[in-house]
Amino acid sequence: MPIEFRIETARGTARAGRLLTPHAEIETPVFMPVGTLASVKGIAQDTLEELGAQIILGNTYHLYLRPGVETVRRMGGLHGFMAWPRAILTDSGGFQVFSLNELRKVTEEGVTFRSHLDGSSHFFSPESSMEAQIGLGADIIMAFDECTEFPADRERMRASMEMTARWAARSKKYFEEHKHEVPWNAGSGKNHVGTAAFGCAGEREVAGAAAELRSAGPPGAAVPTQSLFGIVQGGMDRELRRESALRTIEIGFPGYAIGGLSVGEPRELTREIVESTLEHLPADKPRYLMGVGTPEEIVEYANLGVDMMDCVLPTRAARHGLLFTSEGKVSIKQARYAQDQGPLDPGCGCRVCQRYSRAYLRHLYASNEVLAQVLNTIHNLSFYLDTMRRVRHSIRLGEESRFSSSVRSRPEP
Ligand SMILES: [Zn+2]
Repeated sequence: MPIEFRIETARGTARAGRLLTPHAEIETPVFMPVGTLASVKGIAQDTLEELGAQIILGNTYHLYLRPGVETVRRMGGLHGFMAWPRAILTDSGGFQVFSLNELRKVTEEGVTFRSHLDGSSHFFSPESSMEAQIGLGADIIMAFDECTEFPADRERMRASMEMTARWAARSKKYFEEHKHEVPWNAGSGKNHVGTAAFGCAGEREVAGAAAELRSAGPPGAAVPTQSLFGIVQGGMDRELRRESALRTIEIGFPGYAIGGLSVGEPRELTREIVESTLEHLPADKPRYLMGVGTPEEIVEYANLGVDMMDCVLPTRAARHGLLFTSEGKVSIKQARYAQDQGPLDPGCGCRVCQRYSRAYLRHLYASNEVLAQVLNTIHNLSFYLDTMRRVRHSIRLGEESRFSSSVRSRPEP
């Protein structure tokens, strides 16, 4: 078994459970910090561990261009390269290539694009995306999809959805034929999984998670491998989303993502499409909503039954001095904080709020100190991870978790 997913408590549409991957056991619903270039910007891996992050993201497009898949593969995959012992998910590169607009050309075979770094020409197909993601060696990898632009007419949304379905089948075929090539499985089946290239503190938990995975399968058969998730597209059309879900499920994946949202559509429409798509996804498989959202939104989507989410918002906003707190958003650059001796967020237990004043954080930001980005990022990620921790706690207690009340309550023990 590559992954194992158990739902432990359900309340209405919300569910709390556990996702066991080769490198970590993850409590769901989970928020996944984004580490585009094998680095969650502004924050070191040991701090991420301290904050309780169990899974982070890497972006295939960026890593393919720099440092290159082969370099990462030789280092034992992303886990070895970035010395991160817990779980990793990589995207397929499809969304990033889609974001290049003028620099890309899409055909049935794949996408030709120009690097944003040096203008050089490259080609991604379902097969080459799988090859790259196997080389990067994340625990969970994504099918190569086409993200439909917004707005788009129905004909365009249908054509794009159908291409994504054909690409999903090609992705799965290549993955099944090559999944044994994952770098952390070299000569495997023994007592080390993903630990060969790094000797850090997480080794024991890695081995533990892997051992549990092995014990879950038939004797001798369970060498942990990556898992490939399918992606539902279909633009902003509920019927096309339904069809996309059914076609993706027919191909068969251990988890399903909802892609192609947060591309400029109004928030109510995002919610409507998420809610209607979730109805068509199997209840016993993890559901991943890609690229959302604000703290309010991640609570809302978890309540709708989403198990996994990722977003650059907490880290990107932090670098711009925008901080999420239990009392709302704080723009730390404002002069009103210049003499403010209070903590950034009195309701937050993170090491930044425990130690520093708003006045100091404002000073760091105004002076363009590197430490401003570091501390702001620690707080924002801590706030997101704590928010999700409270949502899980509420689901387990059978309570409705609303954003305002959930973030004001004290952290669970
Ligand atoms: Zn804090």
